[in-house]
Amino acid sequence: MSLIIVGTVAFDAIQTPFGSSGKVVGGAASYIGLSASQFVKEQHIISVIGDDFPQSFVDELESRGIQTDGLERRKDEKSFFWEGKYHQDMNSRDTLTTELNVLADFQPRVPQEAQGASFVMLGNLDPSVQLSVLDQLDQKPKLVVLDTMNFWMDIALEPLKQVIKRVDVLTINDEEARQLSGEHSLVKAANKIQTMGPSTVVIKKGEHGALLFQKDQVFFAPALPLEEVLDPTGAGDTFAGGFIGHLARTGDTSFANMKRAVVLGSAMASFACEKFGTERLMKLTKENIDARIQRFVNLVDFDMTFND
Ligand code: AMP
Repeated sequence: MSLIIVGTVAFDAIQTPFGSSGKVVGGAASYIGLSASQFVKEQHIISVIGDDFPQSFVDELESRGIQTDGLERRKDEKSFFWEGKYHQDMNSRDTLTTELNVLADFQPRVPQEAQGASFVMLGNLDPSVQLSVLDQLDQKPKLVVLDTMNFWMDIALEPLKQVIKRVDVLTINDEEARQLSGEHSLVKAANKIQTMGPSTVVIKKGEHGALLFQKDQVFFAPALPLEEVLDPTGAGDTFAGGFIGHLARTGDTSFANMKRAVVLGSAMASFACEKFGTERLMKLTKENIDARIQRFVNLVDFDMTFND
């Protein structure tokens, strides 16, 4: 089934306690697309880049079945740029710079060929762009997943709430779930967010895994304990790409299948952390993914009996 993805296609500069990336290709839609391309044959990306952005990366997306008719390239303008610095724990970070550049007045256009997509992944970017994409769809998709971040809660809360009202699943990190809901308990936060629109909420907790909430059901998937985390940037987006990619591939949006999607998203996210930027995702094989899923299965599989 085909998938529309929306989100930034960008330049990032990342600092960690162990090194700096320099200027690398990143952006929410880049990570989502690369991750989902392991599961979905037909994707349409809707985003905007400046003429400073490398065509080789766009070609790479296309070679993976990601159609770029909805990726606008603006002449004489600069691509979105984000700079972040990770704390010693590598789980939390500060944003040092966000330059919207081409994103500042982006009017997205859903190409005709993308119409009829059953799955839509609204990756992180301006909520008014996410809303415009939803408004342009001729048919109601089977599932719409939204990802966002504190930046948009701070400067565009009202349009963000409008998008939240119209989606089926919200993926969000723990800090942002608390900010959005005003609740400290993640269970209360997830319950409150479900009253705002989405019937399912995924709360990502970085190296501490991810929680899936739907009504009174809760599921937890751990993150893979990695020997070395070089750069967690894009892990959330890579998770989202794996999550929706699995649902789109199977066409099954039941809670039972969402549990598998959360594990698969976590497996994909673990790869993103192994190198700076999108480098690791570019070189992934099916065998790598299979082996990693098996590590997740082993991680939580145990026999137990209790005899008194
Ligand atoms: P993640 O680590 O999954 O939260 O995503 C990091 C990616 O999000 C980076 O590649 C950035 O380019 C992108 N990003 C950072 N800030 C924003 C923002 N305000 N809107 C959209 N994308 C962003």
